Amino acid sequence: MSGINEENYIKIAENLKSLSHILITSHINPDGDNIASVVSLGMGLKQLGKSVTMALVSPVPHVYKFLSCTQNIVNFEQLDNERPNFDCAIVLDVGSLKRVGETVDVKKYTNLILNIDHHVKTENCGDISFVDSSFSSTAEIIYNLLIDMGVKITGDIAEALYVGIMTDTGGFQFQNTTSSAMKAISKLIGFGASPERISKKVYFSNRAAKIILMGKVLSTLKFDSTGKIGWIIATKDVIDECGANSDDLENVINNITSIENIEVAVLFRDLNDGKIKLSLRARNNVDVQKFAIKYNGGGHKKASGMVLESSLNEAVNKVVFEFQDYIKNS
Ligand code: 5GP
Ligand code: MN
Repeated sequence: MSGINEENYIKIAENLKSLSHILITSHINPDGDNIASVVSLGMGLKQLGKSVTMALVSPVPHVYKFLSCTQNIVNFEQLDNERPNFDCAIVLDVGSLKRVGETVDVKKYTNLILNIDHHVKTENCGDISFVDSSFSSTAEIIYNLLIDMGVKITGDIAEALYVGIMTDTGGFQFQNTTSSAMKAISKLIGFGASPERISKKVYFSNRAAKIILMGKVLSTLKFDSTGKIGWIIATKDVIDECGANSDDLENVINNITSIENIEVAVLFRDLNDGKIKLSLRARNNVDVQKFAIKYNGGGHKKASGMVLESSLNEAVNKVVFEFQDYIKNS
C-alpha cells in the first residue's frame, strides 16, 4: 500500500472500485503527464473489469503516440454523437473544469466528478478532489492509486507512468524530482519500463518540422533592458509555414531558461483566434504561478500558463512591463 491516507484519496479509490462506466479526461493541449495519467489509469481500470472511455479536447502529441492505448483516446465530438452517461468522470491534472476545454461541459456526461491533481489549487473542482502538490506529477499519484486498487503494473502501464514522471520533472531535473518520485521510477523500471527506449521515444523522435519551427521561434528571442526577461514568439503563420503544429512548441521555452542571467522566460503563442497563449518559466525564485493566477491562469511556481485576449504587441508590452516590476518586488 502507498500509505496515502487522505480522506478524498480513499473515497476516489473506493468509487473507482465500485463503479462500472468511467470517463477519464484531462486538460487541453496535453503534455506527457496528462497522456500518461489518462492511459495508465485507463489500462488499470480495464484490468479491474471496468468499461473505460478516455476523452481529450486536443489530439495526442506525436511523441506520446507510442504509449499503449493512446490510439483509444477519443475527442469530445465523438462522445457527443453517442451521448453516453457515465457513473463517474475522473478529471486528471486540472484545477478547474474549464481547463478540460472551453467547449466541454463534463457535467453533461455524469453526476459524479472525481479530480486528481498536483497543482496548487485555485478553485473547487469536481465532487471529490484529491490535490497534493508534494507529488512530482499526476502520474506519480496514479501509480500509488493503481497499487492501492490492486492493479498489476504491466510493462505498458509502467512505461506510461514513467513518461508522466519523467516529463513533468523535466527529465529528472526540476525541483519536483523528489525521493518519492525516484522511488516510483525505480519500481517502474522493475515493472518493465526501459529508460533508454522511453527517452529515445520522447526526446529523440522529433519530426523535422518541429526542429525547423524551433529554429524560427528561437530566432525571435528578445530581452528587456535588465536582461532578466527573455521572450520568444510563435505565430500561426510560422507554425503553418514549417508544416508543424502548436504542440511542437512543447519545451521550446526551456532553451530560454537555459540562459544564465534569465529570471523569467515567456513564450507568446498567437494562433489567430483573438487570444494570446503564454507559457511562463522561472529559472530561479520568481513565482510565475502567482503572476499567472492574476490572469486566471495557473500551473506551478516555475512553470505556468495563461491566456490574454489582446493583440500580440499589446500582450508582449504589457507582460514584459509587468514582469519588470514583479521581479523587482520578488
Ligand atoms: P505550458 O506553458 O507548458 O502550457 O504549461 C505549464 C504549466 O502551466 C502546466 O502545468 C499547465 O497545466 C499549466 N497551464 C498552462 N496554461 C494554463 C492555463 O491557461 N490555465 C491554468 N490554470 N494552467 C495552465
Ligand atoms: Mn502534471
